[in-house]
Amino acid sequence: MRKPIIAGNWKMHKTIAEAVEFVNDIKDKVNNTDVEAVICAPFTLLKDLKEATKGTNIKIGAQNMHYAEQGAFTGEISAPMLKELNIDYVVLGHSERRQYFNETNETVNKKVIKALEEGIDPILCVGETLEEREASETKNVCKEQTEKALVGVSAEDMKKVVIAYEPVWAIGTGKTATSEDANDVIAYIRQVVANIYGDLANEVRIQYGGSVKPSNVAEIMNQSDIDGALVGGASLDVESFLGLLEF
Ligand code: PGA
Repeated sequence: MRKPIIAGNWKMHKTIAEAVEFVNDIKDKVNNTDVEAVICAPFTLLKDLKEATKGTNIKIGAQNMHYAEQGAFTGEISAPMLKELNIDYVVLGHSERRQYFNETNETVNKKVIKALEEGIDPILCVGETLEEREASETKNVCKEQTEKALVGVSAEDMKKVVIAYEPVWAIGTGKTATSEDANDVIAYIRQVVANIYGDLANEVRIQYGGSVKPSNVAEIMNQSDIDGALVGGASLDVESFLGLLEF
């Protein structure tokens, strides 16, 4: 059985005070241990979020990291720095990072390897742009991004990787892929994983992301191959975040 995972991606939102208040408002209501609840937050919030969520069911993720152990990389954060804070997850290869910060399949792969080495579970994002979808390239793009990100990842480590299928045209736009459509692509991504890792693919959790909100989360989560959601905008508000967890 794959445990559902609902992860908020706060992107560049919230101060420490706002983040701690958010956690204080939700922590007693996040009781369902059958669903994993994760908040992926900016670096400045991570330490306080870990403290505020101590003893709760809420896990904390970062939104990026560098693949090097340390070095002359001004402005970057390393895996050991995240590990020191006991960070549970790290989002890697988000389309905004691919689009605005020159993230490539190769750098994403190095980051996946490094996160796993450090004991931080990657949430690996893949997904096509509108242009690619219109050119019927969706599956090819997802296949290439998935395969390239996983080069050198052992079967044992693969069990810890969460994949997030996020069609770029559905992120922050209010447009969602139909749940059947999302399920179809996600089943295909599972097949790509199966081609490398065999039956283990049935244990790998694959989320959908792109304009998920409380009103559409149930339909998405009811699909056979969709194991969770990576949610931006709708994860920022307390009631909305709780609503997502109650799919
Ligand atoms: P959205 O973002 O839910 O605001 O569309 C999703 C994401 O980028 O992870």
